[in-house]
Parts: sequence; C-alpha cells; structure tokens
Amino acid sequence: MIKNENIRELEKKFNENKLSHVFLIETNDFQESLLDVLELCKRINCSSKYSENCEKCNICHLIDTQSLPSLKIIFPDGQFIRKEQMEELKLTFSYVPYITNYNIYIINEAEKFNRESANTILKFMEEPEKNIIGFLITNNKENVINTIKSRCEIVKASYIKENTIKNEELISLVKDYLKKIEVEKNLGIVYNKIVLEKNLEKNDIIAFFHILLDFYVEALKGNNELKELDKLSQLELIKRVDLVNQIIERLNYNVNINLLFDYFVLSLEE
Ligand SMILES: [Zn+2]
Repeated sequence: MIKNENIRELEKKFNENKLSHVFLIETNDFQESLLDVLELCKRINCSSKYSENCEKCNICHLIDTQSLPSLKIIFPDGQFIRKEQMEELKLTFSYVPYITNYNIYIINEAEKFNRESANTILKFMEEPEKNIIGFLITNNKENVINTIKSRCEIVKASYIKENTIKNEELISLVKDYLKKIEVEKNLGIVYNKIVLEKNLEKNDIIAFFHILLDFYVEALKGNNELKELDKLSQLELIKRVDLVNQIIERLNYNVNINLLFDYFVLSLEE
C-alpha cells in the first residue's frame, strides 16, 4: 500500500486524467518515498486489476525487479546528477512504451542537478511526449535548481520514522530540560546543548516538543506535574503553548534544529 497520502492522492488524479507530467516530491525519507512511487507506478500500469502485492501480472513483477524497460530509476552519479545520465534517459524514452501505458522516470536526490544536467532535461520536461511521467525526489525543494522546480508539481511526502529513544527516556529528558529552562532562563542555551548532544533523530525531536507541549497544556488545565511551572501565569502558559506549536509546525520543514532550540529558549526570555 502507498504509505503517504499525498502520493496516494496522485493515483486518484491519474484515474481522473488530471495527472501533471512531472512531480517534485519533497520528503524526509528517500527510501520510503521511492517505494511509494514504485507502488504508484504499479497501480497505474498494472495489466490486471491491481490488488496489493500483485503477482498476477508481468508488469508488476518487472517493476519489483526493476527491470521494466519503460521505468528508469536514476541516482546521482557521485556528487551530481550528470548530463550524460539525462542524455541517456532522453534517448531511452524517445520510443513510445510498448508494454506499459507510460514511460516513467524517477530521479533521486533532485537537489543534485547541476546546470548542465538540468539544461539537458528541461526541454524534455517542457514538451513531454504524451506518455512520459517523471518523479523527482528531494529532501529539500529549496535546494533544487529553479528551472527544474518551476516545471514540477510539488508533492510533500513526510514519513514518521521509528523512534531511536525509548519514550520514557524522552519524557524524563523533557522533564529535566523543562525544570532547568524554566528556572534558569538565562542558561537556556546551555541546556539546549545537553539535549542536542544526544543526537536525536528528527522524529524524536518532534516527539520531544510534543511531550513538552503536553506539560504546558496540562499546566494550563491546572494539572501541574512539575512544580517549576507553578509560577507561570495563564498568559505565560498560553504563550508557551503557541510557541511550541509553532516550533512543531516548523519541524515539518527542513530547519536547523540547533537554531530552533535556541529560538525556543530565547523566546522564553522575552
Ligand atoms: Zn499487476
């Protein structure tokens, strides 16, 4: 099944014939989004009526084994996606597909286009033969060369990853952190370092702020577990709830985590 709902939506659009021909997928997980795109490719090309893990048809099998001639999956060659790779793609897709309805290309790490490779493929993207669909995958659309980005429909695909730290550990980390930053506000940046040194994955950082949010929300309701929060007024608590919500929102994008933590404690001082 396609895990990400925005990628799942594309299948519906496809069935309504509303599909654009080039998509830029911005994701926090290259592997998961590639799997989702491949699943989508099966769904739109399957020769039987597609059902989960279709084993009936040859096309799905060829996609699984990555040997379908009308599907090209491209990874950067070293530091860049190279001009030669794009020339080869154009050549391959100068023929109409013969087993499937579409020629489909998937380009991983689209932020690695350089000017040469981008220029090589622009025209190809601009004047698509009727039956070519492209998926470019990136971890940050802002780093994708503008000429490419402007020709794509942007699709956001976030995935929740398994946590690397136990929930109880995370809760006690948040408690210690809160007790300290709320008492010694001027040392906030120092306590940030203590958390950051744990090198938590981004999803753990998101969980961290959700737990933090819960403490403030509970305090606002009068269920105060941490006496350090007692002296905060309702207004101060509301301000903190807004602030943490804002931080969680920003974490969905590619942000500098260190700066975000500093922003948090500095805003508390105000
Ligand atoms: Zn199939």
